Amino acid sequence: MYRTAVFPGSFDPITKGHESVIRRALPLFDILIVAIGLNEEKSGYFPLEKRLEWLRLIFQSEPRVKIETFTGLTVDFCRRIQAGYILRGLRTSADFEFERGIGLMNKAMFPEIETVFLLCAPEYAALSSSIVRDIHRHGGDISAFVPEKVLL
Ligand code: ADP
Repeated sequence: MYRTAVFPGSFDPITKGHESVIRRALPLFDILIVAIGLNEEKSGYFPLEKRLEWLRLIFQSEPRVKIETFTGLTVDFCRRIQAGYILRGLRTSADFEFERGIGLMNKAMFPEIETVFLLCAPEYAALSSSIVRDIHRHGGDISAFVPEKVLL
């Protein structure tokens, strides 16, 4: 039985913080599915095709990382692909409070699922996709905050 984890998010765009969580989580699982959750109401800042392309490029030499998209509940996606774990990163106590609510609700809906949290690397504690979007929107240089392969 493979240990399959899903790392769900918007990855709009993927940051060095996300990349670090993914690489650090790899030894814990056999397969890690980085899954872009699609929201019917908002399309995001960067086009979905770009977000997928960046993820594929960044992890192209890591066959145990798979890139997917999903709609609907994360737990329904996990059930469908038979993933036993949801991976999330924690930066702050605010992240913890937010994630605790989601994690408990996911467990209520799908008792077999376990949410696994990795503490963010300290150098990325202030980094978020929303800040990167703001910098980009205003013409700033985001290259220090995103993986090299995010060529804009
Ligand atoms: P969402 O749209 O669900 O907030 P994100 O794409 O922003 O998704 O983030 C996905 C996951 O990555 C979340 O668990 C989030 O806490 C984590 N994450 C975001 N930024 C960082 C970072 N700088 N370091 C570590 N984890 C992070």
